[in-house]
Amino acid sequence: SEQHKRPPARAALEVSFEFFPPKTAEMELGLWSAINRLAPLNPNFVSVTYGAGGSTRERTHNTVARIVNETHLRPAAHLTCVSAAKAEVDDVIRGYWEAGVRHIVALRGDPAGGLGSKFEAHPGGYSGAAALVRGIRNIGDFEVSVSAYPEKHPESASFEADLDGLKAKIDAGATRAITQFFFDNELYLRYMDRVRGAGIDIPVMPGIVPVENFKQTAAFAKKTGASVPQWLADRYEGLDQDPATRKLVAATVASEQVFGLLERGVREFHFYTMNKSELVFAICHLLGLRPKPVQVAA
Ligand code: FAD
Repeated sequence: SEQHKRPPARAALEVSFEFFPPKTAEMELGLWSAINRLAPLNPNFVSVTYGAGGSTRERTHNTVARIVNETHLRPAAHLTCVSAAKAEVDDVIRGYWEAGVRHIVALRGDPAGGLGSKFEAHPGGYSGAAALVRGIRNIGDFEVSVSAYPEKHPESASFEADLDGLKAKIDAGATRAITQFFFDNELYLRYMDRVRGAGIDIPVMPGIVPVENFKQTAAFAKKTGASVPQWLADRYEGLDQDPATRKLVAATVASEQVFGLLERGVREFHFYTMNKSELVFAICHLLGLRPKPVQVAA
């Protein structure tokens, strides 16, 4: 239909962008060029990930603090509770509050051994994501977002157990969920039927990853339990040495996905930017978002 090609009124859409903290000065320049390009699109928030086991603790903090200080954006700092005592995690939370951060994405995190190794809470630490959400809410009046898994978390015994996990996080004070990435929209739509059927009414933003590097994404998907359909692999077939075409394909695939969701009534999108702006900017443009001049204090 022609209908879906016409984006909804701008006010009806909410987008957010996810970044990761840079490791080097060069990566920092890349990140900031992406932030500066995407900021005028006025995202609902931008989030900054937290490395496994707190490995990016300082870098995540510095990145969100710089976003608070130098932009009009509302940052959300990711935080995990793996391998850390409560006091240590609470220090990080208080540090965010003091830096002016008011939104945290609370996650359990993955065990140091990676996929397959069993999560064991630190003896003096938060037992999991729900406990962390409660801890954050006890420290400050933060907005707290959490994860959601359209294909269920690989460790969940069943979809029911997975939804119980989501419910526990909401009971603890989470007010928004962001999904793991997925490529088949039906997975998300069916999941949302289950979520709403379970009486969960918070926004559950689909996590969209524009796939510029198929091999890398497929390898990452394997680790997270997200399925990679054969039709997606086919679309990138033979393009390993052809990044320019890959980029065009990526824009097409991601816009198809987003417009497919739009047609089904989805109005919120969380983009995994990989610290790059071009594809996300183009998709947002197709969605009807236009840069607004950023207001600067007199
Ligand atoms: P949880 O929501 O706690 O779920 C973990 C498992 O426990 C599930 O199997 C769940 O079903 C089960 N469970 C928990 N509570 C209950 C309950 N009450 N009843 C039944 N079952 C329950 N990782 C990072 O290291 N840094 C990041 O910045 C980061 N950002 C992420 C952002 C998003 C949007 C997503 C989707 C994931 C992110 N991750 C990140 C990955 C995440 O840390 C891992 O997927 C980790 O394995 C699980 O953390 P969680 O908070 O999603 O787990």
